[in-house]
Amino acid sequence: MAHILLLLPTATYRAEAFLKAARRLNISVTIGCEQAGRWDDSPSNKVLLLNFQNLKASQDRVAQFAKTHPLDGIIGVEDTTSYIAASLASFLGLPHHSPKAASAARNKLEMRTLLQESKIRIPHFVSFSIYVDPKHIANQIQYPCVVKPLILSASCGVIRADDPERFCQAFTRVKTLLIQLGLAEKEKAAQSLLVEDFVPGTEVAVEGILTNGNLRVLALFDKPDPLDGPFFEETIYITPSRLPSEIQDQISDTLQQAARALGIAEGPVHGELRINTAGVWVIELAARSIGGRCSQILQFGSGMSLEELILRHALHLEIPTFEREKQAAGVMMLPIKKAGYFQAIHGQHEARNTPGITFLEITAQAGDLLVPLPEGTRYLGFLLAKGPSPENVERSLREAYGCLKVETNPLPGGTPKMDVIRV
Ligand code: ADP
Repeated sequence: MAHILLLLPTATYRAEAFLKAARRLNISVTIGCEQAGRWDDSPSNKVLLLNFQNLKASQDRVAQFAKTHPLDGIIGVEDTTSYIAASLASFLGLPHHSPKAASAARNKLEMRTLLQESKIRIPHFVSFSIYVDPKHIANQIQYPCVVKPLILSASCGVIRADDPERFCQAFTRVKTLLIQLGLAEKEKAAQSLLVEDFVPGTEVAVEGILTNGNLRVLALFDKPDPLDGPFFEETIYITPSRLPSEIQDQISDTLQQAARALGIAEGPVHGELRINTAGVWVIELAARSIGGRCSQILQFGSGMSLEELILRHALHLEIPTFEREKQAAGVMMLPIKKAGYFQAIHGQHEARNTPGITFLEITAQAGDLLVPLPEGTRYLGFLLAKGPSPENVERSLREAYGCLKVETNPLPGGTPKMDVIRV
């Protein structure tokens, strides 16, 4: 029986989908995770406790484990585990892209530098230490710009600024975030931030899989809500894209070139790109699959999930088809609009009964501290829809969302503490 090591950060939304796919394929899974008791309640799963912050210790532990339990593949399911998965795979001689490529996909400055070297269309960028005084550099910046941390994800800490005053505010806010999360004192990459030109235009997300460096696009998602900032909430994703096919081809060509530039050659890839009159711009490329519960809307052939496809790919099992089902599909990540202690979401019954809605899950728990962007990273939940066309799906999502009313208790002290959980 094939045996895979699945690296799961404590706060991931993705565990169940991978474990379900592994059961379906009758694969033996060992879960590499940091917290005992998080996933080891199933008799079919072994658990290997690892410290993702300590690469050397993790390598030694996995190497020791692999002597008695040979591994056929390693999958890191989120940004935080993609680098460690690449490093462990390279250490054990398992097929994977290189740790260098995984690192470039994790660090926005490394990524921008490699993409620029390969002449891929990206915004002009510059990096600063978080310890410089933003007032001293505000006049060197071209506006509008986007200020962002190098190593966070899910739009956490990504802020648009249109003038020097707002630049200084954004800079200080990102710096404070990196310090309060305890990252600035631990990681060199958290002692800098990136400032780049704001790229206007339409945004898409691409889900793909790479084999020997060759990209196969699995789904191209339109993001119909304008993403003009100052914060960049991911809300609605809909596939298939309504963009003209020539543009869709340019998007996949650009993502293919970007993956080559970074050296990402095997496994899932998730890209965010913008399109305007100048062409297709790469905003980001991650060496992992789509986050949250979003993958649930993707079905290939007769019911193969994205996770099953990824596991088959990692283990060189036959992949019957890469074709997504014919229906249009969409997801809405329910945004946190207001800080407070979560109480409940009303109107769930009406939302679930909205035509086209296939799934609603509220992932926030009563009593949770809700922190909106740019400091927060979580969603209230996920709303999924399917339908005959992208327009239908979009309508279903918006209508169902309109039924939901969020009840929160205000914070006694005003400003919320950071609640960022890095997945
Ligand atoms: P993260 O990895 O945290 O998601 P990204 O760099 O992908 O960070 O930025 C998050 C979102 O912010 C993007 O999906 C996009 O909507 C917006 N964004 C980031 N950089 C730019 C930019 N230079 N121009 C326009 N929008 C941007």
